[in-house]
Amino acid sequence: MTETPEPEEDGAQTFADLGIHDDVLEAIKEMGWETPTPVQRDSYPLAIAGHDVIVQSRTGTGKTGAFGLPLVDGLLSDDGDEQALVLAPTRELALQSAREIAKLGTRRGIDTVAVYGGASMEQQIQALDKGARVISGTPGRVLDHLKRGTMKASQLRVLVLDEADEMLDMGFLPDIRRILAALPKDRQNLLFSATMPKEIRSLADNLLND
Ligand code: AMP
Repeated sequence: MTETPEPEEDGAQTFADLGIHDDVLEAIKEMGWETPTPVQRDSYPLAIAGHDVIVQSRTGTGKTGAFGLPLVDGLLSDDGDEQALVLAPTRELALQSAREIAKLGTRRGIDTVAVYGGASMEQQIQALDKGARVISGTPGRVLDHLKRGTMKASQLRVLVLDEADEMLDMGFLPDIRRILAALPKDRQNLLFSATMPKEIRSLADNLLND
C-alpha cells in the first residue's frame, strides 16, 4: 500500500505566496498563468532579494517569467531611470522576451524595447530615448548602441543572460565580454542556460558577484 504524499509545505504554491504585487498579479492572471512553474518559484525569491542567480533551465519551463517577474515587480524602481539588459542569442528570442516582459510590466509603467540587428536603428533609439526600462537584445546590436552612446551603460542595474549556452555556441563570447566591461560592476546578474558546460561555469565565475 502506498501512502498519499503530504502537500509540500516548504515552498510558495501561488504567485501571491511569492509576495508579488497586485498589479503584476493582475497581469499574470490576464496571461492565463495560474501557478508559478518550478523555475519561477525557485528563482523569484533569490532574484527579488538582489542576489545573483544562475539557473539551468530550458525553453518551455517559464524561464522568461523567472527573470521577467522580479524585473517588473521590484528590481527596477517605479520612477527611477535604472534599466535592465537582457541578452539573447537571436532576434526572435529578444522580441519574444521583450513582449512577455512588457505584458508582465504593463501596470508598472515599465516600457521594454527589443534591439537587434537587421532592424531600424532609428526606432530603437527613439524607444531608448523615451526611457525604456528593459532592453532585450542581441549582443552585436547592444554593443553598437553602447558604442554610439544611445544606450547608457551606467543605468544598467540588472543584466540577464538568456540561453547563455546558445550565445556561446553562436560565437558571442567576445561581444559579451565587451558588453560586460562597459557595465557597472555593482549590477545584479541573472544567468540562464539550458546546459552548464565548463565555458558557462567560467563565464559565471567572472560574472557573478554574489
Ligand atoms: P519560456 O520557457 O519562458 O519560453 O515559456 C514558455 C511558455 O510558457 C510561454 O508561452 C509562457 O508565456 C508560458 N508560461 C510561463 N510561465 C507560465 C506559468 N506560470 N503558467 C503557465 N504558462 C506559463
